[in-house]
Amino acid sequence: MAALLEFEALSRSYQAGDQVVHALRDVTLRIEAGELVAIMGVSGSGKSTLMNILGCLDQPTSGSYRVAGQETRTMRPDELARLRREHFGFIFQRYQLLGDLTAQRNVEIPAIYAGMPTPQRQERAHRLLDRLGLSDRTSHRPGELSGGQQQRVSIARALVNGGEVILADEPTGALDSTSSEEVLRILQELNAHGHTVIIVTHDAKVAAHAHRVIALSDGLVVADRRTQPHVGHSDEREVPAAATESWWRNVVARFVEAGAMAIRSMASHRMRTALTMLGIVIGIASVVTVVAVGEGYRRQILSEISSLGTNTIDVYPGRNFGDIRSGLARPLNASDARALATLEYVDSVTPLIGTSVSLRRGNVTRTSSVSGVGDAFFRVRGYGFATGQAFGASAIRSQTQEAVIDGNVERALFPDGSPALGQVILLGSVPVRIVGVTEKQHSVFYSDDSLNVWIPYTTAMARMTGQDSFRSITLRIRDDANTKAAEEGVKRLLTLRHGKLDFFLSNNDAMRQSFERASEASQLLISAIAVISLIVGGIGVMNIMLVSVVERTQEIGIRMAVGARQTDILQQFLIEAVLVCLLGGVVGIALALAIALGLELLGSPWKMIVSGTSIVVAFVVSSVIGIVFGFLPARNAARLNPIDALAQV
Ligand code: ADP
Ligand code: MG
Repeated sequence: MAALLEFEALSRSYQAGDQVVHALRDVTLRIEAGELVAIMGVSGSGKSTLMNILGCLDQPTSGSYRVAGQETRTMRPDELARLRREHFGFIFQRYQLLGDLTAQRNVEIPAIYAGMPTPQRQERAHRLLDRLGLSDRTSHRPGELSGGQQQRVSIARALVNGGEVILADEPTGALDSTSSEEVLRILQELNAHGHTVIIVTHDAKVAAHAHRVIALSDGLVVADRRTQPHVGHSDEREVPAAATESWWRNVVARFVEAGAMAIRSMASHRMRTALTMLGIVIGIASVVTVVAVGEGYRRQILSEISSLGTNTIDVYPGRNFGDIRSGLARPLNASDARALATLEYVDSVTPLIGTSVSLRRGNVTRTSSVSGVGDAFFRVRGYGFATGQAFGASAIRSQTQEAVIDGNVERALFPDGSPALGQVILLGSVPVRIVGVTEKQHSVFYSDDSLNVWIPYTTAMARMTGQDSFRSITLRIRDDANTKAAEEGVKRLLTLRHGKLDFFLSNNDAMRQSFERASEASQLLISAIAVISLIVGGIGVMNIMLVSVVERTQEIGIRMAVGARQTDILQQFLIEAVLVCLLGGVVGIALALAIALGLELLGSPWKMIVSGTSIVVAFVVSSVIGIVFGFLPARNAARLNPIDALAQV
């Protein structure tokens, strides 16, 4: 029958600079199940190298090493991890427990990777600790335990998956004599129950407990003697029941465990976690805020566009807004307005003439814009009146010197609060009587503190501008008429009158469309900035994760030694990156909502609209950042060589 562990002409050499160090040379060994072996030799003789190869943490350079008949030299990392889980339990000189975890949790780790169902795993870990006299220490962390206690926790960990072969590298090297005796007694007991125990030591007293002593010198086996005959093998080991869970439940359980480990690691390094997510918090918060402000602004403008009434068409001279040649185009005049008023689908026509004059009342003087408008103007534009009313059609016909003012003008000219209605003020040198005061309008189109005075356009032409041309004409289309058809009609009529197309029409639809186009462009810009800021945040996450992997090399090594696959390590670090980013996203969204609330409390003129979509997108984006930027560090961690990782201590 094949021996449990079999070395055949096995060599292991290291490349150290341009020198080759032969740590093991042509070693041939057979270790049977149930043996208690001590491996001795001075420092540098190759004991740890031998141990690492025995435990499948390392692979030979040449020769062969078989575990229960399986050749390991050509195995891939995850197959080696499987052998470690199924056959080996490690006990290290420095215990190698994970400092963030309780004794119970430390013992459970190999079982997690082996896929043992949770209740069974917890029960088994607890029972092993109990058997090793640690039942009252299960929720202590390694830092709260003595050296001897820590070593007993690590023995429990070596046993949790069955511990067919216990590999102990200088297990008593850091212990006082009492604890050493205790540990050796436990190892002997385990051997008596059928565990194969291999102890590396340089201490002859320790070796004296063994049944077989193998001496190494300079990578060669120089002696191999039995001190007690090997009396067969009675396996009374307590072996955990084979995992009965289906593979997918096993995958889910390991995923959940990886998540829990990630959360625990984040919780125990709060400062590092907070710093890692800072970039994501700022990125997500600023993106959500900017999008919300933009959306609020967009909606307000759209609602104002619709409040201007859907059935109006503005006619302007020139080809387009700001057309520099509009001065050369034939102006729009009263006869144009009269002609347009005759169109059947036109409800009413309001010309607009603008000028700016000084307002005077008593000794108060202000500069204000004065608009000459038709009587329909206030209805068309949706102005309400605080007091008084609009001038009527008869006022237009008879060029009365009447005016409507806004609240700002009233406050400016009547600072004592006396009523403006019925009073006379001077527009330049023209006295006008105030017949109405409009209500304040909230609008992004007009600044809140502008002064506005409206007078009949006929009065403006006759008494102020001396011109007979309008800045624009606004038509109110009948409710039952089709705006498109009306536009065509207006275009035809004016082209006929002017002989060419030297005017342009603007309706709310056109305004809405051009505004939507502008806001699309700005959204594109915002998205570009968002992408950049989130990439910067992601790079921050990657940097800190890379550092964190280096810092946690030992933890990774321990996990690998107890049987973690590369995918387990990859998963753990990826989940950690994603959780950090998600948490960053949550904090970022909360921050954005707080900013929205703050702006609202401060009485911002427009509301931020934080949409559900932007929250969902923020979550998705932060997870994607976590995956993308967490991948490199996680892969680095997964690709660490377990012995290099363990050698860090
Ligand atoms: P021991 O455990 O008996 O002290 P080791 O197995 O650790 O001995 O080392 C055996 C030899 O191999 C030593 O000469 C050591 O310097 C060398 N060695 C061990 N690990 C490495 C490594 N990773 N790179 C280069 N040389 C190494
Ligand atoms: Mg060593």
